[in-house]
Amino acid sequence: MSIQYDEYLQQHKDAVYKGFLWMKENIPEIFGSDDMMSKVDYNIKFGHDASKENPDEYQAYDAYFYGKNRSAQVVEDFNYAWLNHIHKNPHHWQHWILHNDDPKEGVKCLEMPYEYIIEMICDWWSFSWNKGNLWEIFEWYDERRDHIMLNDITRNKLQAILLAIHDKLKSIEINIDINANTPGAGAASAVIEPKIEMNINDILGDALGKAIQGGLMNNAAQ
Ligand SMILES: [Zn+2]
Repeated sequence: MSIQYDEYLQQHKDAVYKGFLWMKENIPEIFGSDDMMSKVDYNIKFGHDASKENPDEYQAYDAYFYGKNRSAQVVEDFNYAWLNHIHKNPHHWQHWILHNDDPKEGVKCLEMPYEYIIEMICDWWSFSWNKGNLWEIFEWYDERRDHIMLNDITRNKLQAILLAIHDKLKSIEINIDINANTPGAGAASAVIEPKIEMNINDILGDALGKAIQGGLMNNAAQ
């Protein structure tokens, strides 16, 4: 049991929640309903990564990240713990992949319930919050987009939320620029410091455009 890992876990959970609070404040429309917002709030506040406190996950994660000895056994134990974590936690996309016994049925990506799509984004985004660069998530996603297996509907919803985050960050950035010319203004909103200038089309590609055209934000409540 290490203090570093305990601190890391707390910091991670706090950052996941910060992302949720930011969405609640800045893009509340993505939740679709107050019920959905409360559900995500509750899940993140009380449930996010709770299983990492269980001995079967805690010890293996702690040893892997803070044990200073990555022996084959430590790596193997970590792999089992990570798989266990995915099985227990629906906010991971891997949780929703069904590997059928019948080869004809193959592998299916089931649709993720909407509350877990939002929690997954908050989870991914937490690393950007800790690094102080809220734009990093777009690059992160783009690098893994072809590897992350998602149901088409889930992907469209996910990308629509990412786009909403992107556009809001962009408009906040523009406001900061405008406010910067006004003495005394702007400083308070300068918490967000976008460091990367990017073209959303390059980063997220056509799928986003289709998601918007398809009016997917309207399906958010499903
Ligand atoms: Zn998790």
